[in-house]
Amino acid sequence: MGANKKVPFKFDGKKDFPAELAKWVGQVFYEVLPEQGYEVREEQIYTAFQIADKVCKKKVHFAEAGLGTGKTFAYLLTAVAYARFTGKAVVIACASTALQEQLVGPNGDLDKLARYLDMDIDARMAKDPRQYICDVRVSRCKSLRFEKQSEAMEEILSWSDVTKRGERTEVPNIPDPIWQQVAWDEGMPCEMCTSRGYCKLVKAKEHYRAARDLIISDHGVFFDDLWTRDERIADGKLPLLPAYSAVIFDEGHKIMLSAAMQAGRQIIKEDLEYIVSFIENIQGARTALLSTTVALDLATERFFEILLNSVIPDELTERLAVDINDGLLIAAETLFRALEYLQGEMQTEQELHTQTIPDTLLEAYDLRIEGVMAALQRLCKNKGIDTIIWVSKIDGSFWVVPRDLSGMLKTNLFQKNLPVVFSSATLSTGGDFSYLSRTLGLTDWSSSSVEGPFDFREQVIVYTPESFPVSDQEKWFAQAIKILVSLLELSRGRALVLTNSPSEVGNIRRGLKDYHFPFEVLWEDRGERGHLVQKFREVVSSVLVGSGFWEGIDVPGEALSMLIIWQLPFPSRDPLIEARRREAKEAGADPLTEVDYPEMGLKLKQGCGRLIRTKDDRGAIVIMEPFRDKPWEQFVQGALPAGAEVVSNLTEVESKLRKK
Ligand code: SF4
Repeated sequence: MGANKKVPFKFDGKKDFPAELAKWVGQVFYEVLPEQGYEVREEQIYTAFQIADKVCKKKVHFAEAGLGTGKTFAYLLTAVAYARFTGKAVVIACASTALQEQLVGPNGDLDKLARYLDMDIDARMAKDPRQYICDVRVSRCKSLRFEKQSEAMEEILSWSDVTKRGERTEVPNIPDPIWQQVAWDEGMPCEMCTSRGYCKLVKAKEHYRAARDLIISDHGVFFDDLWTRDERIADGKLPLLPAYSAVIFDEGHKIMLSAAMQAGRQIIKEDLEYIVSFIENIQGARTALLSTTVALDLATERFFEILLNSVIPDELTERLAVDINDGLLIAAETLFRALEYLQGEMQTEQELHTQTIPDTLLEAYDLRIEGVMAALQRLCKNKGIDTIIWVSKIDGSFWVVPRDLSGMLKTNLFQKNLPVVFSSATLSTGGDFSYLSRTLGLTDWSSSSVEGPFDFREQVIVYTPESFPVSDQEKWFAQAIKILVSLLELSRGRALVLTNSPSEVGNIRRGLKDYHFPFEVLWEDRGERGHLVQKFREVVSSVLVGSGFWEGIDVPGEALSMLIIWQLPFPSRDPLIEARRREAKEAGADPLTEVDYPEMGLKLKQGCGRLIRTKDDRGAIVIMEPFRDKPWEQFVQGALPAGAEVVSNLTEVESKLRKK
C-alpha cells in the first residue's frame, strides 16, 4: 500500500495512515461539518473514531448506535478514505433496495457528505438482480402482444423500449405479478444468453464493478458473491463483486437470513413441472427423453405431497419447519433419481446433436436440475442432520440450507483478514453482544455502543401494570383487555399495539368488540401493510394493532404516543432459530438462555425503538406481559430505552402523555 493522491487528507504514504485518518475524522466532525450548519453529536464522533480505528486494525467490529446518532456519516468517512488508501472499493451492504436508494439517491447521505466535503465520491449500487428487466423475458412478453395485455403490462413494455437502466425504481407503480413477468429471476440462463452484450442487468453489473470508492450492495448480493466467489473464479468467471478492501453491514443484525438463503437451494414445484411440460412439447423428441418426464412428474408430485404432510404448522413464522421422516427421505431419493435419469438423457441429446432443443437451453436446464439435485442430496445425506430446511409459507417452495453457516462465514469472510463492521441500532441487549457474536461464530471481535441523542429520561415512561393473574391465560386476557381499553382512552387512540402472533390480533379484536372508541382501530389482517402504516401516520388519533410492526415503521410525532407490548416477542419454531437452539443444546448450554431470551430481547428493543423518532416525541411504553422475577427479566430490562422511568402507576403515565 502506498501513497494515494485521492485520499481525502494530506498523506504522503510514509505517515501513519490510522493516525492521519483519525486526525481527518476529527477535523471533519469538529470543524468542516459544524461550519456548514450540520449538527454533530458526541455519540456520532465516538462511533466514527471507533470505526476508523477498528477498520485500520482489520477487526470485526460491532458498532451499535441508537436511532438519530448519524451512524451513516460515522462509517462513510472511514469507508471512503480506506477505499482510496487501499485502492479497492469498500462494500456497504444494506438490508433492502429502499435503504440502498436512501443512501445513494438524490439528497441521500452520500450526496450530502460529498457536498459538505466538496469531493466526488464514486459510489455505485449493486442491486438485487430481480430489480432489473431481462431482455429475453421482455421479448417473450412482446411476442404475446397479439393477446390482450393488461394496462400495466402495456406500460412496462413501452417503457422497456426507452429505458436505459431498466430498473424497477423507474416504474414504481407496476404491481409485483406484472414486474415478475419481465424481470430477471434465477431461472434465466444468463451465462448462455445471446443478449448478454446489450442486456441492462449485465451493464448494471459492469457499472458497479468499476466503482472506485464504494459499492452499495444489498445483503443478498453480498452473500451471493461471498458463497460463489471462489467457485466462479476457479471456473474462470468474474465474481459478482470486484475485490473489495472492507465490508460494512448496515442493519447488521439482519444478515443471517440473507446469508442462509443465498447459501441454500430453493426447490419450486412449478419449476419442475415446467421442465416436464417443456420436454413433453418438444416436436420430434426421442422416446427415451420423453419417457423420463413420466417418472419425474410422478416423483415431483409424490415428493411435494409428502413434504406438505411433513410440515409443522406455525403461525409465527413464514418459514415452516419440516419433520424429516423416512417417507420424505425416500421421496427425495426417488426425485433425485428421476432427475438424474433426465439429466442423462439430456446429455445424450446434446451428444447426438439432434438439435431438438437448442444447446443453450439444454445447458440452462441442466444447471437448474443440478441445483435441485444438490439440494436433495444434501437433504438425504445423514438424514438431513447437516441442513436447515423449511417450506416457505409465501410460495410453498422448499429450502435446503447448510447448517454450518457460522463456519462458512468464518472461512469465507472473517478469516480473510478484512475489516468487517456491523452497524445497527440493535446489536446487543443492554450492551451485551454475546448472542450476535455466538450466532456469527465469532470469538474475536470488538464493539462500541452509544445511545441515540434522545433524552429517554424525559421523553419516555415505561408502565408495567401490576397484579396480573399470571398463571391463568384466560383471566390474564380478560384483565389485559380492560387495561387496554383504559390505556387507549387515556392516550386518545394514538397507539401501536404489538402482538407476537397474527391470531392474537383477531383475539384482541374479539375482546374489544363491545367497546366503541371515538377513534379508528386499524387491524393488521384487514388491510395492506403500507396502506395501514400510512393511515396510522396520517390519522393522528388512530390505533394500529399487529404482529408485523416490530421493526421497519417510522411514525414520528403524536400519532404514536403509546406503544403497547401486548406479548413479549419470544421466537417461534423458525428453522433458523431451531438450528441455533440445536447448536446450543449440542454445546451443553440451555437453548432458552442462549437463544430464546436474547432473541426476544433484540426484537423487543426493535419494537421499543418505534416510539421515539425525534427529539420532540414523548410517550409511554406499556409491557402487558408480566416479566418481573422471570428468568428473562434482564433481557426485557436491557431492551428498554436507557434511563426511561419505569412505573406501575397509571397516573404517572397520564401526566407524561399530557405533556405531549
Ligand atoms: S443476460 Fe440474463 S438478464 Fe440479460 S437478457 Fe440474457 S437472460 Fe436476461
